[in-house]
Amino acid sequence: MKIIAVGRNYVEHIEELKNDVPTSPVIFTKPDSAILLNNDPFFYPPFSNSIHHEVEVVVKIKKAGKNIQEKFAHKYYDEIGLGIDFTARDIQSELKQKGLPWDLAKGFNGSAPLSKFVSKEKYKLGDLNFNLEVNGENRQIGNTAKMIYSFDYIISFVSQYFTLKIGDLIFTGTPAGVSEVKIGDNLKGYLEKDLMFDFNVK
Ligand code: MG
Repeated sequence: MKIIAVGRNYVEHIEELKNDVPTSPVIFTKPDSAILLNNDPFFYPPFSNSIHHEVEVVVKIKKAGKNIQEKFAHKYYDEIGLGIDFTARDIQSELKQKGLPWDLAKGFNGSAPLSKFVSKEKYKLGDLNFNLEVNGENRQIGNTAKMIYSFDYIISFVSQYFTLKIGDLIFTGTPAGVSEVKIGDNLKGYLEKDLMFDFNVK
């Protein structure tokens, strides 16, 4: 399986990092070794001094496809979850300045903690509240109505380039409020009122 992620999909987050609003989706990937499951702790890596949390709704692909039309994209996923796109912001800033790929800043071990996946029928996908608490305090509050590119548009777009396979995961972008985590922090993520993950930084 592969992990595909969308950067810059919420305007207020684009503004907080002083990036430009994209004219087409900004796409990057993470290796499967980035995945953390079962609320396992995230071990702070030694090569960064600025690991940021980015809470994101994640779509799980259930059927292989390429060149998927947006109007059929909903048939390619039944389940969603919540994840963190951990980002070594210091490394990413350096790479961005040099115009280099972001892989080291985005794809390191443990950089993709994931919740369990649940039926998409449980939620209103176009108006879905989600949030991240760090040490019990709300840090990021998002609603999918504020996405520039919808789940279905993202699936259609990326499937023009990458054949999607069963089990592939798509991180759909983070709302405003990204900031640094520290060793000892506790992170809890919610879809609506449902606790989806609860893990610590070690
Ligand atoms: Mg992100």
